[in-house]
Amino acid sequence: MRPCRARRPERRPALLEFRDVRKHYRTGEEVVRAVDGLSLTIGAGKMVALYGPSGSGKSTLLRIAAAIEPPDGGTVLVDGRDVTSLSERDAARYRLFVLGWINQQADLIGGVTALDNAAIKPLAAFGSMRRARRTVAPLLERLGLGGRLDHRAETLSTGERQRVMIARALALDPQVVLADEPTGNLDSRRSREVFELLREETHTRGLATLLVTHDERAASYADAVHSLQDGLLTDSGPEAALAP
Ligand code: ADP
Ligand code: MG
Repeated sequence: MRPCRARRPERRPALLEFRDVRKHYRTGEEVVRAVDGLSLTIGAGKMVALYGPSGSGKSTLLRIAAAIEPPDGGTVLVDGRDVTSLSERDAARYRLFVLGWINQQADLIGGVTALDNAAIKPLAAFGSMRRARRTVAPLLERLGLGGRLDHRAETLSTGERQRVMIARALALDPQVVLADEPTGNLDSRRSREVFELLREETHTRGLATLLVTHDERAASYADAVHSLQDGLLTDSGPEAALAP
């Protein structure tokens, strides 16, 4: 495949800032205030957890931060840049180079090896499978999957699949990581491993990591934890206090 020579933005530590973000959904007569004026700042090298029940607006908030859907009001800034009004092309570049995304399902491509599943982003960026594999193999080894590179997705355990997702998210050295219920399908030992791994990568890479979860175990691993209820933070910890 011919390299596509995608230009990657300069890598530097970034703040992730939510400023008065609002998203309301109308279904018939009813208005659901999924996110209701939320402000939060996450510094580089910090893992912040939002802890909230189902329906409290966690996934909506992450979709907005990932430039998948726009808010009705407010902004999300990464390194001072508004990511809620990017063109489609810039949003795709943002998701490829700036963002790492981890979700609950660990939705890997069936029939495809751990190595190739983790290599998707560098493949999209560079157009070379060989280069993409070279990029992610050491990362998979560091995440304890060195012996699983050639194993197909469906032969991996749930915990291994989640680590492949983490490798995929980190493959292009992102500035921001968004994790939506990353331990939702894991037992407590595997959950702890995933939280510890995310915390360590956040600190060593200087990532701004936002993890949303209803798993209370996250609290002991994050640098700050906030409660989310009906699209609003119900406390104001030190991170929230940083927001304007
Ligand atoms: P969580 O991830 O915390 O479970 P969500 O962000 O998925 O919460 O949902 C928050 C609220 O917004 C819920 O009441 C949900 O039903 C509603 N909601 C989310 N997406 C949509 C949508 N596309 N259309 C209508 N309502 C939605
Ligand atoms: Mg959700």
